[in-house]
Order: sequence, then C-alpha cells, then structure tokens
Amino acid sequence: MSYIPVIGLETHLQLKTVSKIFCGCSTTFGAPPNSQVCPVCLGFPGTLPVLNRQALTFGIRVALALGCGIQPRIVFHRKNYFYPDLPKDFQISQYDLPLGTDGFVEIGKRRIRIGRAHLEEDAGKLLHSAGYSLVDFNRTGVALLEIVTEPDLTSPEEAHLYLKTLRGILEYLEVSDCDMEKGSLRCDTNISLRPAGSAADSLGTKVEIKNLNSFKAVARSLAYEIQRQAQVLDEGGKIQQETRLWDDAAGRTEPMRSKEYAHDYRYFPEPDLVPFAVSPEEVEKVRGNLPELPPQRARRLIEQYGLSEMDARTLTASKGTADYFESCMKAAPASAKTLANWIAGELSSQTNARNLESVAGLPFPPGHLVELVGLIESGKISGKMAKEIFAEALSSGQSPGSIVYSKGLSQVTDPSVLQTAAQEVLKEHPQAAADYRTGKGQALMFLVGQLMRRTQGAASPAISQEILRKLLNDKEKRG
Ligand SMILES: [Zn+2]
Repeated sequence: MSYIPVIGLETHLQLKTVSKIFCGCSTTFGAPPNSQVCPVCLGFPGTLPVLNRQALTFGIRVALALGCGIQPRIVFHRKNYFYPDLPKDFQISQYDLPLGTDGFVEIGKRRIRIGRAHLEEDAGKLLHSAGYSLVDFNRTGVALLEIVTEPDLTSPEEAHLYLKTLRGILEYLEVSDCDMEKGSLRCDTNISLRPAGSAADSLGTKVEIKNLNSFKAVARSLAYEIQRQAQVLDEGGKIQQETRLWDDAAGRTEPMRSKEYAHDYRYFPEPDLVPFAVSPEEVEKVRGNLPELPPQRARRLIEQYGLSEMDARTLTASKGTADYFESCMKAAPASAKTLANWIAGELSSQTNARNLESVAGLPFPPGHLVELVGLIESGKISGKMAKEIFAEALSSGQSPGSIVYSKGLSQVTDPSVLQTAAQEVLKEHPQAAADYRTGKGQALMFLVGQLMRRTQGAASPAISQEILRKLLNDKEKRG
C-alpha cells in the first residue's frame, strides 16, 4: 500500500544571551563541567528565578521574523518530569500561552506553518561512560526557544530544506550560534503515515524521533522511519505511540520509551514568576530592529547586481554566503554572474564536502575569489585551469595569483604558438579533419580537445577553436 508521510519538526534554539534565562550564570560553551552553576539553576530550595530580559527580546525577535503573533501576556509553566539532568525535577517552560503563535517558513512555493514558538530553560548534559554516567549542569537554565511546526512536511527532503531555510533565517537574526555540533540548534521530529487517498486530517499514530545531531541525520532517520512504519502497517500491525532514538552509526531508530502525553507532565503555572504584559510598543520596537531577512536580501541582490532569482536565492540561503558574495563585489567590480556561479558551484560543493555552514568557512577568502575570477575574465587562465588553481589554493592557502605566478601557469593565447600546435594536431588526426569538412561539426570539438591536451590544458579554448576552424576552412578552399 502506498502512504503519505506526515511530518512535524520541533527545533530547540539556544539563545546566545550572556547569562542563563533565570539566573546570572555564564553561558560560555566549553567551560569545565559544573563551573557555571548557582543555587537557582541547581534548583536549591528557597531560590527564585528572575527572567532574563534579553532572552525575551531574542525570543520576540525570532517569533516576529517567523511571522508569528506575539502573546500579550507572558506566562510560564512548570513541566514536571524526573531525569538526572534536571536538578529541579521540573523545567520552566511555556504551555497554553506560548510567546509566538501562527507563523510560517516559506520553502520554495510552500508555506510550512509554525504553530508556536515558546521560551524555556535547557536541561543539563549527561556523559555516559562504561558502567557509570556523569552530569554537567553548565547547560541547565540556558535560554531556549522551541519552534514547533504544524505537521505540514511530507518528505525527508522537505524536512531537510525546512531546517536549512529556518537556520538561514536564524543566522540573520544573530540570536544564536545555530551550531548543531555544540548543541545550540537541536531538532526532534514527529512522523506518522496515512494511506494515500485518505483525508488530509486523518492522522496516523505518530512516533517521535530524538537524538538527531545533523540535518542529514534528520533526513536519514525520517527515511528509515517511513520504511519501518510502512512495513508494520502492510503486515497488519499497529504503530506504537512512542519516542525512538536515532542511531546514526547503525542507520536505524530504536524504541526509547512510550511517548508521554501532556497530562503526564502535570503542567501548572510557575508560581515564582508572575505573569506580565508585553506592550505593543515593545513588540514594535523589536520589529523595527529586525535585520534584512533572506527574501528581502534576495530581492535587493537581484536589483543591485542583476542576479537571477535562482542565484539570489542560493546566495542568500545562508547569511555567511551572502556576506561573502557582497564582500567580493565590494572588493572589485567583477562580474556578479561569474562570482555567483563560482560561489554556487565550486565553493558550495567544497563547503558541503567539508560540512561547513557557509562558504565563509572555507580557507579561501573573498579576495582570493575576486583574484581568481579576475584571472579568468582577463583571459590569463582558462576555466579548467581555474578549477585546478582553486583546489590548490584551498589546500595551500596561497592566493590564486601567486599560484599562477609561481607555477608559470598561464593560458596560452599567443596565436603563433597555437597555430603551430593546431597544425600538428590536424596532421595527427586527418580523419577528424576530414569529418569536419564533411559537415560533422562535433569533430571540431574533438580537435580543440586534442589541442588542449597537447598544451597540457593551457591553450585558451576560445582562441584554439577559432584557429582550428580557420585552418580547416582555409585548407578546404585551397583543396
Ligand atoms: Zn545559575
């Protein structure tokens, strides 16, 4: 039977406030275990939490950028559960009145609805060793914003694209490091299957997947889960409502625990934090300070540099990449199109291969790309040579100009040199020359290739083609 996946995502974003959300402890990453703790975040009796104003402002900033409405009344709840990384035995979170509601993220032409975005505190971190576990409370109480989609996503690819787009927006907002490796961006997914052709709101039993450490893991775990659930259903079985853990090395999900329901958490209003109002003026002030976001930046790049919509979207998907492009344009008036091609092509593929977040992370500063494109545009090097020089610059850190200079690499454009080489090529390949004369146009490309080979790729392809064609046509007239 064929099924349609129904997928929802919960993203936990660590807000980069200097101190934790309800106490003054530092949030610096990588400090010695349990060195950034105090009676408040360790949940000692008699201590009182105080809301970090900056966390609230950051939360509103994200919610507004996602098109959410802002709750006029801020209320926190206690979410009660027992786990070794939670010293208070409850987490201060938001429940029925989340900070932001009803937003969206656009992926391509689709709108993925954001149901809610709410503030809460992070838990500690458990480190498991053979036979025992250790707990680090430095992360306990770090400000989090949880961003929850409606179950609008229908494939692992779409979930991946949503996350990339969301991270792009978050980067522009500068409220978080958005670093999955450091855990400042974390993601859980919910997935169920419904038979193809069933009503869109006939939801199957959903499974939650945790322990997803990369966007790739999100997509892979969803693909696995779609297959697993389809098999269970095809065999007449029932899906258990449960939480499963993704095992990245084994490439499968494993049952972790039966899924909790909201009532399991015994939510009640946090008595130590009084509800308070956020004035419309405050909200508007945050809105007024929103930066240029990816869709607006894409529009501006199209107008300012004449980029195509496709290029503009690719470049602005990550703030680092868009900044890189604009630094190049400021450094020298190179062709925007050529720069965009290089960034979206060679540089992006190296960025992906190295698992970097944007091309800005490559050991190839904007100045080097400007230099490389300059060498291509002035005809000093061919596109093929440029790719080799790029690879060399990446590994050695040298600038493209100095590589060309030190290796004596330079495109051969001198017609007399090329003319001699072209005559030799024609002598060696009489058949191809004859083919060209009988109207087989592609024989010319073969001859250009031979000429390139003869010059170890240094011949300018454009000039080579011109010279070969001229030689062939001259001979034809004479012959
Ligand atoms: Zn503390």
